[in-house]
Amino acid sequence: MRNRHPWLFASAIARVDGTPRDGDVVDVCASDGSWMAGGTWSGASQIRVRLWTWDPDEPIDAALLSDRIRRAVAGRAELAADSGTTAYRLVFSESDSLPGLIVDRYADYLVMQLLTTGAAVRVDEIVAALREELSPAAIYERSDAEVRTKEGLDRTEGLRWGDLPEDAIEILEGGYRMEVELRNGQKTGTYLDQRQNHVRVARYCAGAEVLSCFSYAGGFEVHAAGAGARQIISIDSSAAALEQVVANLRRNGLSVPAEQITGNVFGELRRFRAEERRFDVIILDPPKFAANAAQVEKACRGYKDINLLAMQLLRPGGILATFSCSGLVGADLFQKVIFGASLDARRDVQIVERLSQSSDHPVLLTFPEGEYLKGLICRVW
Ligand code: SAH
Repeated sequence: MRNRHPWLFASAIARVDGTPRDGDVVDVCASDGSWMAGGTWSGASQIRVRLWTWDPDEPIDAALLSDRIRRAVAGRAELAADSGTTAYRLVFSESDSLPGLIVDRYADYLVMQLLTTGAAVRVDEIVAALREELSPAAIYERSDAEVRTKEGLDRTEGLRWGDLPEDAIEILEGGYRMEVELRNGQKTGTYLDQRQNHVRVARYCAGAEVLSCFSYAGGFEVHAAGAGARQIISIDSSAAALEQVVANLRRNGLSVPAEQITGNVFGELRRFRAEERRFDVIILDPPKFAANAAQVEKACRGYKDINLLAMQLLRPGGILATFSCSGLVGADLFQKVIFGASLDARRDVQIVERLSQSSDHPVLLTFPEGEYLKGLICRVW
């Protein structure tokens, strides 16, 4: 805590004076009684206090919230000035010194998630600060993330300000038009954390037969098609997501031969192997395989399985763009898993680029847990 890590665990608390309610501001003191930090109480969570300040003269109030939101917005000035990009994360929770608050911008609309009691009880102040700072057309709350249950909070969603169209809205990503369902899409609508990686991977796709696994709405597909891919096959378990892949290619006038397979990537890659299919570029962007420490080993087996299959399906010199968004599987461990897959595949595999989450998901040095997405672009011989 002295190093400004923003989580105080229940097991580290010797004594509680008074009876704080969820979301209340509390002072954290050392055993000698000296003031250490200020935070908000989460009575049901193992992370019992979220720390907001290490300055005794800084009250946790509406002014602090506004200040921090202003700073987060200022930290995205380059993105705001980029006319080809209208969707990005504006507030990334602890990484922007706003524990439990996620705010994503989608064109004129904001989607927010309140994931801790400290954020949830301040919903009105947060909405007021966002309106003041950004004048959005709507603020929609999608606090439907599983982590809320650890805080003893129910899932909740709904319009908190303004008007939001019933249908999908359009955003720009790297100059491409993409439709996004803010009410029903995955996460807050789409995977903003992969924005820059869509561009990085597309550079390898000119003239290539591309296989995009776990495609969702087609961020990699649209960029690959724009870069001149020869053919693109997408696999996702969600038929609705694959419909969006088609819609997004069409929306940008990209007429590349494209096929969509509704299915399980693990099974479909095995089928392709049996059919001796080959590709020039394979993208693996699976969902989070490890939600807690107990799942890490199984997650690694899953990563190894799909990466081994992908290596076997690549032509010599082909490109594997492989990702893990499991925060608990660190970059070193992920690289070891890919190493294991290369041994079993009996292929020489070179890392040519290391990728991370996009710049609107910054990593605060005092909160390394904020770094969760890692990717490797590999050449497979
Ligand atoms: N590549 C996307 C994000 C992918 S998110 C982008 O850049 O925007 C992960 C996707 O995997 C989701 O769309 C989910 O529907 C899909 N999915 C999850 N498990 C799957 C499985 N076993 N087989 C196929 N798709 C799966």
